[in-house]
Amino acid sequence: MKAFNYCPRCGHEGLDWSESKRWTCGRCGFIYFHNVASAVGAVLLHCDEILLTVRKHNPAQGMLDLPGGFVDHHESLEQALSRELNEELKVVVSENEWCYLFSFPNLYHYAGITYYTSDLFFLKELEAKPEITVGDDVADAVWVRIKDVSPDRVGLDSVRSALRELQKVKR
Ligand SMILES: [Zn+2]
Repeated sequence: MKAFNYCPRCGHEGLDWSESKRWTCGRCGFIYFHNVASAVGAVLLHCDEILLTVRKHNPAQGMLDLPGGFVDHHESLEQALSRELNEELKVVVSENEWCYLFSFPNLYHYAGITYYTSDLFFLKELEAKPEITVGDDVADAVWVRIKDVSPDRVGLDSVRSALRELQKVKR
């Protein structure tokens, strides 16, 4: 990945990107690790239906997604998921209500940079459908029967893998 051409410390041209996740400067010794970022996704179920969002922005604008997003600094996975769910849909789920399901790696291409993420998915089964207010970061939210979700309409590889897993167990 050639996103960075100059050393941010000394300005030397030609940062070395030879070790897949590490940039190094041959002049001043600067090292930057492009480490894996954590992201979380919510599997909200009501009977045999799952709550999906429609992506408002790229990557994968207009494609289906799960509610969720990147984990902030100093935040637990569960806190991040409750925060994202509230920001995106104004749905409140407490951080201690999430049940961990599985994780999948993902590549997230944004503004010329490829982020390597570890996407972790958590379940919350709902007795009733909550009231939803779509926030600024998503285009729409829809309830879909799990078996009717078409993988082709899902934007991110990790979310597609998660939905395939759910379709296996909920068939
Ligand atoms: Zn340098």
